[in-house]
Amino acid sequence: MPALDALFGLGFQAVKKSTIHLKNKAGKGIESGPVSALEALRRLKVKGLDKVVAVKVNGELRDLSVHLDGDGEIELEPVAIDSEEGLKILRHSTSHVMAEAVKKLFTGVKVTIGPAIENGFYYDFDYERPFREDDLPRIEEEMKRIIKADLPFVRKEMPREEAIEFFKAMGEDYKVELIKDLNPEETVSIYSQGDFTDLCRGPHIPSTGKIKAFRLTKVAGAYWRGDERRAMLSRIYGVAFADQKALKEYLRKLEEAKKRDHVKLGRQLELFSTHEEIGAGMVVWHPMGGILRHVLEEFEIAEHLKRGYELVKGPQILKTELWKKSGHFENYRENMYFTEIDGQSYGIKPMNCLAHMLIYGSKIRSYRDLPKRYFELGLVHRHERSGVLHGLLRVREFTQDDAHILCTPEQLDQEIKGVLDFVKDMMGIFDFDYDLEISTRPEKSIGTDEDWERGTGALIKAVEDNNLPYQVNEGEGAFYGPKIDVKLRDALDRQWQCATIQCDFTLPERFDLFYIGKDGQKHRPAMIHRVILGALERFIGVLIEHYGGAFPTWLSPVQAIILTVADRNIPFAKKVFSKLREAGIRAEKDFRNEKLGLKVREAQVRKIPYMLIVGDRESDKKGVTPRLRDGRNLPFMECDQFIALVTEECKQRR
Ligand SMILES: [Zn+2]
Ligand SMILES: [Zn+2]
Repeated sequence: MPALDALFGLGFQAVKKSTIHLKNKAGKGIESGPVSALEALRRLKVKGLDKVVAVKVNGELRDLSVHLDGDGEIELEPVAIDSEEGLKILRHSTSHVMAEAVKKLFTGVKVTIGPAIENGFYYDFDYERPFREDDLPRIEEEMKRIIKADLPFVRKEMPREEAIEFFKAMGEDYKVELIKDLNPEETVSIYSQGDFTDLCRGPHIPSTGKIKAFRLTKVAGAYWRGDERRAMLSRIYGVAFADQKALKEYLRKLEEAKKRDHVKLGRQLELFSTHEEIGAGMVVWHPMGGILRHVLEEFEIAEHLKRGYELVKGPQILKTELWKKSGHFENYRENMYFTEIDGQSYGIKPMNCLAHMLIYGSKIRSYRDLPKRYFELGLVHRHERSGVLHGLLRVREFTQDDAHILCTPEQLDQEIKGVLDFVKDMMGIFDFDYDLEISTRPEKSIGTDEDWERGTGALIKAVEDNNLPYQVNEGEGAFYGPKIDVKLRDALDRQWQCATIQCDFTLPERFDLFYIGKDGQKHRPAMIHRVILGALERFIGVLIEHYGGAFPTWLSPVQAIILTVADRNIPFAKKVFSKLREAGIRAEKDFRNEKLGLKVREAQVRKIPYMLIVGDRESDKKGVTPRLRDGRNLPFMECDQFIALVTEECKQRR
């Protein structure tokens, strides 16, 4: 705005006045001058300022108290307490408050670091004894006092040497070590609230009073800088949210998640077990889990056939030579298991791709034959560190609903779209919301830049053409190509990785796959690796927690159980039982001479959708009175009516 340039100051020196404006509102700025960001936001008439805890100055996160006295255009973006960045700042700031409280209560304690983590924060302390759960209420009380005092967080920058002396004088050796390790270029900043001062980059909330909802949750041991040769510190964890409502909701979900733990429910519902004597990460499926898997697998096969996939199956172990050809040996060896047969090295498959490539290459393909969609419920083995193994969620042996699509480069967009539609249908059936993430080329990878760009472009186009929101993870792709990861959200709003769609231009190259195009020439097909539910083990683990073990009828291992009131009802109950079995309903019977209440309770613990109680009325009138697992009763009905009801429910997958 040259017309607005003003001359001021001595000597008629031309000074360009700069403006401060809000993001995306360049036209409506205020004149800049020495002013705090908070004051600037006030003058810019930002609404709901009491919910604003920090600010982005030209994209950089800063304290609200930061002084804006730079030249040029300054763009501000307020950061609200309930935004992702705002919550992170709130949580980290709460860790400072906790450190202040701990220093006040425990003489001689030394502070280290206190970062924000998912839902909360922690702080590591060095104290003469480890902290205990029963220390937490006292610390919480002290924190509440600090919060009530509404102490401002004050930033101060210090020369490096001065900062070292400052923390040395306080006996804070860990801080001294941290400063010494800082890049000499970096500004050393300290923050104080009340009489507590910490070394920190910031930013922080403006004052302690902004903390409206927190809770200290647990204690743990942790090595200084994660190094087991260094001091063992005592860590205190806490959670913090924008308001009490969000905190309560979080604590409720935490309680609920404990109740829904799939390992606990897996035992209670007799679905699966794991055994030390078998080995870590290997799952044993019991009859109830066996039938659940079978239902899921049959469903998957039907859904794939419906969409033009062909069923194939490759062997479990393949020569190591072939894994070298594919690039797996070079790039994925650490996750593979190897064995030897007749002096020849073999690799146990960690992925199903190879056999599918050989199937495609077994004859000459024309462009008219494409796309080819090969589907396999493929059992794979991958070496995962024992520390990360957990129930069904992280295992070493699992079955993927894996497919490889080979198509012409022109068909690639359409095929990716087809897979995205498939994911949408499947997630809808299980009632999952989901998010998409696109991952780009990692450091360790194969293929040309051109291929990577083409593949990444195709994935982004497919997602954007479908108007789906997505996030980009730079450098997180598979070693052979870019990918779309689908992260589903369960009933407790937790994220789980399931489907992935990966482009691969290198495997067709390495296996010299081609098709004859319209021009009569050989061309290289494009290839997609994709799974929809991912590892079935993991997916079942997620389903158990998602439904809290109360599977919808179509998935329930046992759909109905017949309970007799008295022994004289057994003959009719037997007839009901065989009728249901004949109709394909997974029915069980409980004709024991036990109290009905006990039988009902047991069926409820097993979360069986329908209990058919057969007493005198049912025997006389030749029908059933279904009782639901939540305690509700349906009206008396004929056996055939009940069969029709369950059959329809399963067909609709309600
Ligand atoms: Zn800090
Ligand atoms: Zn594959």
